[in-house]
Amino acid sequence: MAYQTTNPYTNEVVKTYENATADEIEASLAQAQKLYKQWRNDPVSSRIPVLRKLAQIFRDETDDLAKVLTIEMGKLFVEAQGEVQLCAMIADYYAEHAEDLLKPRKIESISGDAQLENHPLGVLMAVEPWNFPYYQMMRIFAPNFAVGDPIVYKHAAITPAAALAFEDAVKRAGAPAGALKNLFLSYDQVSTVVADKRVQGVALTGSERGGVAVAEEAGKHLKKTTMELGGVDAFIVAHDANMDDVKAIAPRARLYNAGQVCTSSKRFIVTANHYDEFLESLKAAFASVKMGDPMDPKTTLAPMNSRKAKEKLQKQVDEALTNGATAYYVHEPIDSDGQFFMPTILTDITKDNPAYGKEMFGPVAQVYKVADDDEAMALANDADYGLGGIVFAGSAEAGAELASRIETGMVFVNTFFSSLPELEFGGVKRSGFGRELGQTGISSFVNQELVVKREHPNDNEAGGLVLPHKF
Ligand code: NAP
Repeated sequence: MAYQTTNPYTNEVVKTYENATADEIEASLAQAQKLYKQWRNDPVSSRIPVLRKLAQIFRDETDDLAKVLTIEMGKLFVEAQGEVQLCAMIADYYAEHAEDLLKPRKIESISGDAQLENHPLGVLMAVEPWNFPYYQMMRIFAPNFAVGDPIVYKHAAITPAAALAFEDAVKRAGAPAGALKNLFLSYDQVSTVVADKRVQGVALTGSERGGVAVAEEAGKHLKKTTMELGGVDAFIVAHDANMDDVKAIAPRARLYNAGQVCTSSKRFIVTANHYDEFLESLKAAFASVKMGDPMDPKTTLAPMNSRKAKEKLQKQVDEALTNGATAYYVHEPIDSDGQFFMPTILTDITKDNPAYGKEMFGPVAQVYKVADDDEAMALANDADYGLGGIVFAGSAEAGAELASRIETGMVFVNTFFSSLPELEFGGVKRSGFGRELGQTGISSFVNQELVVKREHPNDNEAGGLVLPHKF
């Protein structure tokens, strides 16, 4: 059975779930489409109270909701609590700002009184990953619920309980039937839903592999898409970086969520004058982690989400070493059957190493030495991906100048990378396209309908391309 909760700390299989039936899929799409037709005529304000209530549920039930995540994908309980709180913030933000973000935009035009109105687009299909099971859902749900786009979704096969808990919270917040429907779909069933003519948009967050497969289906059927995919984000330590700040942030940037974050710093690119000091401090931080029960507040590094993920990462590391990389540091093994990956620092990764430019989705840091800031920029941009990035430099201004030179979707200067409801999230190159959150994110799946009005036809001077010929 594909959908299954397995605790990666204890390896206990908690529960398995049946796939959706064809009848369930049809009923869900019919209900979503019915709601879309209704929502076309309802103002954004009619949906705001549900978002407020949803935020309240996420705040009131933080611990219960967080526990689902820790059991299901091993996340530290404290990080799970943080994720739930962030979800509340996102729901609150769109409750507060959606009407403003979606208000019509006046256009000055000789054609008449012109404006772009933001209408719902229709039913959306969302495909989401396991690494932030609620946050990824909230990122797509809150803005699009405000817009008036009903959503059917397929969550990751290893996080079915989180998928159901999210759906249940939305229901309890008072969302009408059809607003959000979880379906345990096979890949073929995802294709069927994407192809359905009631579905107007497809949003996927996940790997490049998943993105290619689903974008191909969507392209075949001319569905609008956003693709939020993987990354090999650079963490640049510029020649004039403040090393106290760097040392405080670098380990977190790699180990948060057991290193399973699309925007984790996966390549540390360090100028020569800081290289030795950087390596020593990262090693000390990696050596000091405490692996253990993710529910225990004393634990600082969680297990990975599954045995499969751990084995894949081990294979990548072994391959990197076989091809000449150096294991500068590997944490000593611990006595646990949990799916822990020993924090590892790799150096001497040459361009011909298969690890060069590959995403390693776990607690493995690749560290590169460069002569100067220009070389750091060249290395940062020598990647097929472009999702996020972090730059540490002598001043915010100097860092921002470097940040603008990186071919990527998001960069944080002299601070930790964070995702917040008001900040656009998304990448370029093989990290995907489109944005979630923010003004751009909420506009991803709207029909920006141009309406031009006047009292009588415009029989004016512009002629040619703008106006029809006179007969
Ligand atoms: P994944 O395999 O692509 O899975 C993500 C989702 O896509 C899951 O629901 C998965 O279902 C589904 N999926 C995969 N292949 C599919 C196909 N051919 N047809 C239909 N659905 C398909 O990704 P992952 O490896 O689990 O997640 C980690 C990746 O996600 C990393 O690369 C990470 O960087 C990226 N990520 C990106 C962002 C972002 O915002 N850019 C955020 C988080 C994670 P199953 O679980 O059933 O396979």
